[in-house]
Amino acid sequence: MIVVLKHGVPQEKKEQLIAWLQNLGLRIHVSDGEFQTVLGLIGDTSQVDMDLVASLEIVSAVKRVSEPFKCCNRKFHPEDMVVDVAGVKIGGGNFVMIAGPCSVENEDQILTVAKAVKAAGAQMLRGGAFKPRTSPYDFPGLKAPGLELLKLARKETGLPFVTEIMNIQDLPLFEDVDMLQVGARNMQNFDLLRELGKINKPILLKRGLANTLKELLMSAEYIMASGNEQVVLCERGIRTFSDYTRNTLDISAVPMLHELTHLPVLVDPSHSTGIARLVPSMSLAGAACGADGLIIEVHNDPIHALCDGAQSLRPEEYAELARKVRAVREAIA
Ligand code: PEP
Ligand code: MN
Repeated sequence: MIVVLKHGVPQEKKEQLIAWLQNLGLRIHVSDGEFQTVLGLIGDTSQVDMDLVASLEIVSAVKRVSEPFKCCNRKFHPEDMVVDVAGVKIGGGNFVMIAGPCSVENEDQILTVAKAVKAAGAQMLRGGAFKPRTSPYDFPGLKAPGLELLKLARKETGLPFVTEIMNIQDLPLFEDVDMLQVGARNMQNFDLLRELGKINKPILLKRGLANTLKELLMSAEYIMASGNEQVVLCERGIRTFSDYTRNTLDISAVPMLHELTHLPVLVDPSHSTGIARLVPSMSLAGAACGADGLIIEVHNDPIHALCDGAQSLRPEEYAELARKVRAVREAIA
């Protein structure tokens, strides 16, 4: 249920209403916008007399929210959420370019790529140290030393970074990480999501390979209901019967998610296609359809990459693409 308050309601009256609702055993999510305050009621609202609340002098409207996701529901929070990653803002008109290799491989590789993407205009670095791999014989990432190399790259370039956490036991290693990624394969690892809801760090939540938008939002809800509201969603392609691409970029997911939730939505054209030459066009599509940013794989030597070389752009290709993305952003502004 949401309770929309009239404009300019005195703070004291607002607090009295919140305390009264809390006494009914509800959690109240307060969204103070420029023009209105929205109270989101979470819990068993069957005890709330809607007519009584609606009749209060300070209330302008009361509505039931039928969707099972509450904290991430735009009805609870009409204004776009802006997530701040070490000073880089994502959402609410702030577009972020995140780039870097699939996996951190060695110092030279990560520093070379980090410097190149920074020069091309990226505001954040990506790189996996803990890698979920389909085959147990493939490179699983450098693990803790990989995180150290990401920190070194941050120190050298000033770029904050996002990196994947696969297992909650590893969380102590992620203390000095700017943003934690929950990968597609872990989107419904509910224990992991709940624990990430208890920390105070932005989370990049990628859509699962075969998950619906509602399931993605319910996963965001796990994190937010546990207390961490700093969630950014990512459309990274889903499994379909398309036979020539790794996945299918569900581009309509972006405007649909923007309707349903106030959380920022990124597009990952690299995992969506699996093919480097398709990445530029899908990136432009992502920018044109209103995504809040792009996360793109870039490698200084894609042919010898230990992971996802086929979908990785070379630094000069990324620089060219970044220029076109800026042009699309200006065109649609
Ligand atoms: C990645 O970002 O490198 C990755 C493994 O992504 P996804 O979880 O979307 O497959
Ligand atoms: Mn990858």
